[in-house]
Amino acid sequence: MSNNITNHNKIVTIRCGDVGFNSYIIKNTKTRQGVIIDTPDDPVNIMNACNDITVEGIFITHTHPEQLQGLHPIREATGAEVWISAVDANVFNYFTPINSQRPENPFEGESRIEVAGMEIQAIATPGHTPGSCCYLVDNNLFSGETLTSTNGPGCYTPIETLNQTIQSVVDKLFTLPKDVVVYPGLGDPFSLANSEHEYKIFKNRYPSALHGNVLWRTSQE
Ligand SMILES: [Zn+2]
Repeated sequence: MSNNITNHNKIVTIRCGDVGFNSYIIKNTKTRQGVIIDTPDDPVNIMNACNDITVEGIFITHTHPEQLQGLHPIREATGAEVWISAVDANVFNYFTPINSQRPENPFEGESRIEVAGMEIQAIATPGHTPGSCCYLVDNNLFSGETLTSTNGPGCYTPIETLNQTIQSVVDKLFTLPKDVVVYPGLGDPFSLANSEHEYKIFKNRYPSALHGNVLWRTSQE
């Protein structure tokens, strides 16, 4: 578990399962409310970390099982509503039969959502899944698996989804303020500006048939 404080919003990270998928809790220390971003398979630890706040919302970056396996018990325990892109909500049950209850708040495209006394900006970044999105709170970007390290998006097999992800990262994320800190679905936080710097090096040597595990710096070496 790690902590980071910006203004009066405090970010708590819970590493879940053997692989260590991240669940983030953003706590508004003024109102003692908060939201959870992604619910991997460690609902007890996620809930324990919420014992000093009222959970007002659950935000899902995309509908892969790794982000959803803890959703049902957390939803039951908190009564919090679920936000997710409408595109991914359409395949919600397909990926996770356990989550038979539909999300309360599917949203279209870009959205500004006010909950728990904070403003959450949803940014549509299709690619990793058709409805993948990132959430910006203050200058903190919760990127799911759209951008998982300074060094690039990581594992992709079909070239089409990789290209779509790169397009989303370049058009929607690298246009954000330079001081944004990225909190990925897997791994440690990093600077968005550093990732953009690495991307520019990568772009100069962009291979024509990229696939597999893409890291900006090493893909052609
Ligand atoms: Zn995923």
